[in-house]
Amino acid sequence: MAADERDPSPETLAAQALGSVDGATGAVVPPIHPSTTFLRDADNSYATHGRVYSRADNPTYDQVEALLNRLEGGQGALVFASGMAAATAPVMALRPGDHVVASSVMYWAFRNWLQDYATGWGIEVDFVATEDPVALAGALRPGQTRLVWIETPANPLWTVTDIRGAAELAHGAGALLAVDSTAASPVLTRPIELGADLVMHSGTKYLNGHSDVVAGVLVTARDDAYWQRINAVRKNLGAVLGPFEAWLLLRGLRTLFPRVRTQCANALDIARALDGHRGVREVLYPGLAGHPQHALAARQMQGGFGGMLSVRVEGGMAAAVRVAAKTRLFHRATSLGGVESLIEHRASIEGPGSPVPDDLLRLSVGIEAVEDLIDDLVRALDLAHR
Ligand SMILES: *Cc1c(COP(=O)(O)O)cnc(C)c1O
Repeated sequence: MAADERDPSPETLAAQALGSVDGATGAVVPPIHPSTTFLRDADNSYATHGRVYSRADNPTYDQVEALLNRLEGGQGALVFASGMAAATAPVMALRPGDHVVASSVMYWAFRNWLQDYATGWGIEVDFVATEDPVALAGALRPGQTRLVWIETPANPLWTVTDIRGAAELAHGAGALLAVDSTAASPVLTRPIELGADLVMHSGTKYLNGHSDVVAGVLVTARDDAYWQRINAVRKNLGAVLGPFEAWLLLRGLRTLFPRVRTQCANALDIARALDGHRGVREVLYPGLAGHPQHALAARQMQGGFGGMLSVRVEGGMAAAVRVAAKTRLFHRATSLGGVESLIEHRASIEGPGSPVPDDLLRLSVGIEAVEDLIDDLVRALDLAHR
């Protein structure tokens, strides 16, 4: 294929936000549209502009949704007010009596919502170890299971589920597969190409990347009736993103590729440096050869294993909390995917009933110089284990 026939690479599309220039002004950065309402035509229709009210959509979404759709290889994208708004919408678009199968290790707030709220609305939910195909197959109820929800790598143990295998099992039972791809980002994994029907992201994390926007994203493999119901959920529940946040999300996406690549390289170096430290019981990172799904991760994730890892500290919860108290560069805070490194004692935020061991520290690795980050962690571990 001649070079001028080739589609630009995803990194080019992201850096240039699809190459679009504002037709009205020539601006290479798109405008923000704060308007909540749009002109109706004299004939009482909305034919000229096609937009009515910003609880349905807003022109500031167009470019960021188009870019996200391209990066994921989808047939439609929607931005939401948060990752939780994006995750809950596909479940709220189901009917009472429908059955959902979800990963037992997954983002804690969404697991709680499925357990506490979705079941209260008549949705039946089972949690299984989706990384085990036998367990996943056993949980499916052909004809009743509508949605299989996996998260990979899954927070905060970084368990990896085979997307292609899960899609085959889900489809075989007449269900759809949704993938929370927040930790992987479209830089590392494109779930729709592997058979997924829906891809979800907390845009708060890698997509925006600067810890200054709360946002959510869904991308669909098909523009069908179910997708239209999801769209109606966003509109009717008002789970819409503010125009300024949509604009910031697009701005953040321009640097997605270099950020995630640096974060992956830093995380791998940190995982290797801490593996075997006397203060560390175990390093959980799909990029380490000893990770139970390392081979699968190497197949499914392209160009890196992500910027997230967890460390189980020798000496239990007290020692883990001591380590987090001693870091100087890693900030003690929740969330992930930003350019600055964060450390968190995860069991404290998840509370009782969490499957997370209480000696676990979750690290979100940023783009700082990796030797500074390693020194910071080794120093904190040494101080906590004196
Ligand atoms: C943060 C997160 C969410 C929730 O997203 P919010 O933007 O905080 O609502 C869902 N899944 C994963 C994996 C996350 O890290």
